[in-house]
Amino acid sequence: MFREGLKQRTELGLLAESHMSRGELVPDDYVNSMLEAWLWQSSPKQGIVFDGFPRTTYQAEFLENSFKDMSRTFDSLIYLDVSYDVVCRRLAGRRACFICKEEFHLESAPFSICPYKKCTGQHLKSLPEDQPNIISSMLINFKKGIEPVLDYYKAKGKLVVIDGTGNSDEVQKAVLEGISHV
Ligand SMILES: [Zn+2]
Repeated sequence: MFREGLKQRTELGLLAESHMSRGELVPDDYVNSMLEAWLWQSSPKQGIVFDGFPRTTYQAEFLENSFKDMSRTFDSLIYLDVSYDVVCRRLAGRRACFICKEEFHLESAPFSICPYKKCTGQHLKSLPEDQPNIISSMLINFKKGIEPVLDYYKAKGKLVVIDGTGNSDEVQKAVLEGISHV
């Protein structure tokens, strides 16, 4: 949602970028208001998978209250557990075309053809937030925020921890097994 906001140069998108480019979490109130606006437009019958949310207990509590208002239920928090080194390698391999804004990955999704037929991969760049020093401060901030969130959902019996080390097929299989009770 932030990247989409950034593409469209919305106020929230630009603000999110200024935090992400420094490896900081986007402040809770911005995340929450962006999410809430989106939630009210979604159909209550439609299931949702959030990626990278909630990152703090404040966001988790906000989500719980919003869901109450919308008569939605929260099933599971899926936490993909990966070592520091693996996260660094994955982030460092991300590339985006700055002309067509499409994202690729050196290892898992290498550039082969431009989906918009605009380029031959000559405009690929690392994302600004994927520089090594930014990655390490982002991970420190991520850990600080996420640990209480894991405790919060664990206490509710809604935490599913998945080993995220393998390739995407292996991780997908583990996620599906992990949430098969839902
Ligand atoms: Zn391109």
